[in-house]
Amino acid sequence: MKDLTERDKKHLWHPLTQHKLQPDMMGIIKAKGAILYDENGSEYIDGIASWYTSMYGHCNEYILEKVQRQMEVLDQVVFSGFTHEPAIRLSEELIKILPPEQQKIFFSDNGSTATEVGIKMALQYHFNKGNKRKVLLAFEEGFHGDTFGAMSVSGLSVYNGPFEDYFIEVERIPTPTKDNIGYILQRLNSELELNNIAGFIYEPLVQGAAAMKMHDADGLNTILEFLKKHQVLLIADEVMTGFGKTGKNFASDHIRVKPDIICLSKALSAGLLPLAVTSCTQEVFDAFYSDEISKGLFHGHTYTANPLACVAALSGLELLQSEQIQSDIRRVIQSHKEFGLRIKEHPKVAAVRQCGIIFALDLNIKTERYGNLRNRLFNFFMEHGVFLRPLGNTIYILAPYIISDSQLSKIYDSIEGALDEVV
Ligand SMILES: *Cc1c(COP(=O)(O)O)cnc(C)c1O
Repeated sequence: MKDLTERDKKHLWHPLTQHKLQPDMMGIIKAKGAILYDENGSEYIDGIASWYTSMYGHCNEYILEKVQRQMEVLDQVVFSGFTHEPAIRLSEELIKILPPEQQKIFFSDNGSTATEVGIKMALQYHFNKGNKRKVLLAFEEGFHGDTFGAMSVSGLSVYNGPFEDYFIEVERIPTPTKDNIGYILQRLNSELELNNIAGFIYEPLVQGAAAMKMHDADGLNTILEFLKKHQVLLIADEVMTGFGKTGKNFASDHIRVKPDIICLSKALSAGLLPLAVTSCTQEVFDAFYSDEISKGLFHGHTYTANPLACVAALSGLELLQSEQIQSDIRRVIQSHKEFGLRIKEHPKVAAVRQCGIIFALDLNIKTERYGNLRNRLFNFFMEHGVFLRPLGNTIYILAPYIISDSQLSKIYDSIEGALDEVV
């Protein structure tokens, strides 16, 4: 009984965890489709697709088969000086669906390194051109990862205290609303006069870690248009929003002004293996193309473009574009819409919002981000066979596209139950 939970305590140190306050980790022994199985024989619907990765379902047969075949042919090879079919095909397939103008694909392993590379591209782009632009622009409450550059631009830095003295310089603006867009443009105007902003990193439309905070495409478009005119490189962090979650392939597809650089991970490799991409335009690439070695991008990770991860990503892309998954996406969007209409009238619900298959509701109370209510909600959901991770006042759903209607109903029922019994 609870063998894994006990053995875990001896040597393991978990991410984002204060072990004294949270000593027990749940042992998961199996996952299939939208379901996680624990070591005590209980099942949970994976309502957040294991941090937005397993969108085509866990242990997807189609993806497994393709990766198994690749495993017998080429497992891993250095990607500096060598190349291979899976990476080439993945670059070709990505360029077909990425927003127009994206031309080059740089691989790394996770969302933080994808944004870290995007930040380095923007800073070195200007450095190579002899521009003195050393500041980055970012949204308040943004989240871009846990490495140093990514931490620096993240606005949600409540836990970054020990490191703040070492951050790169960042200016922050609020996300746009109809009321503040005038103020934002004014701020940008005086900022840009100093001519020191290298790039703007933003989570388009939905800020995941800020509890699925959403802003509208028009306001963002106005900001991007303004920045583009002033040669500020636009870095879209689509690590969370990419690959269908907003109802289109990318959140940037909802916005007229297109990014110069795009960061991708999470659903990129379908929840099977770690992989990330930083894509950019020919213009960005050209600023590094030179007879001088030092103008190149000297960044690389050992597992860059791992062939197995590339094949997982290729299979995921095929599924994403299949009629089946596209109709699943439409089905989940419609189902959330109906739930939203019903639940927004509940007296304990302050607000409901949705972007594609991302659904969030704010509770009509005040609480700490990781306070007690959050834990009681989490436990209630788990007891009802549903894995959700409430953030502060917000309960959100980001389930795999392949989730069934009855599994969706079970998530909705457990949320309604929690509103009545826990809140
Ligand atoms: C998760 C996330 C990251 C960081 O990705 P990791 O793989 O956890 O390093 C960066 N940006 C956004 C928008 C994310 O959601």
